[in-house]
Amino acid sequence: MKVNIHATQTGTVDIKTAHRIRKPGGLIRVFTDSRWTEWLPIYAWVIDHPEGIIVVDTGETSKSSDPNYYPHWHPYYRGSLRMNVRPGDEIGPQLGNLGITQKDIKTLVLTHFHTDHAGGLHHFPGTEILVSETDHRLASGLGGRLRGYLPNRWPKWFSPEPITFEPERFGPFERSYRLTQAGGVLIVPPPGHTPGHVSVVVNTEDVTFFLAGDTSYSESLLIKRTPDGVSPRASVAIDTIDPEACRLSASGLLTHA
Ligand SMILES: [Zn+2]
Repeated sequence: MKVNIHATQTGTVDIKTAHRIRKPGGLIRVFTDSRWTEWLPIYAWVIDHPEGIIVVDTGETSKSSDPNYYPHWHPYYRGSLRMNVRPGDEIGPQLGNLGITQKDIKTLVLTHFHTDHAGGLHHFPGTEILVSETDHRLASGLGGRLRGYLPNRWPKWFSPEPITFEPERFGPFERSYRLTQAGGVLIVPPPGHTPGHVSVVVNTEDVTFFLAGDTSYSESLLIKRTPDGVSPRASVAIDTIDPEACRLSASGLLTHA
């Protein structure tokens, strides 16, 4: 069974160094940090599978270049984030360049609701969209806006399906959700970056790919077990990325909070 995965870059994002690598003070340090990272790629993923196309995340919208797009009253958007997304960078045109139309897409999965993952939702009317019910609740309404989400920018038709995990183990994950009948593409729950964050596993003939979302920002941070600066609870993020903790979790000695 042949599966292709396309990395789709929807522009670039610039964040504070205390966002990428957690410092004492966590989120407050992100707001007050004067140093920026280099410009970072914003990826969404397109899984070309015989059972249909599965898209993971939507990237950011080019409207984010408008200075009035983000709420200036929010301390994070007032000075802790910069976007560089051109109209042609959005996921819709890029799917078109790959020859993919709306009807080809079987499912869209959002790893979480941060703006650089959910900013392209308007390209998916009529598509089945799967999300974490926990994160959807946390991102919705006034509470969501105070937490830095942009529910007011979601399309009016946006009404996603909650992911209902089954007690089917995959590696250290006790629960998973099958995206394909053949079972090779799965959603798993690695909490930390957000409480309900999900990732997608793609098993091919010779390689297993882990489309991590923001479980970790880079391989080196993952290996060093370094949490980011915006995770609500660093201990939960570390439990997820720490192999020893995962092993213990898998054997039932330690559970994620
Ligand atoms: Zn994020």
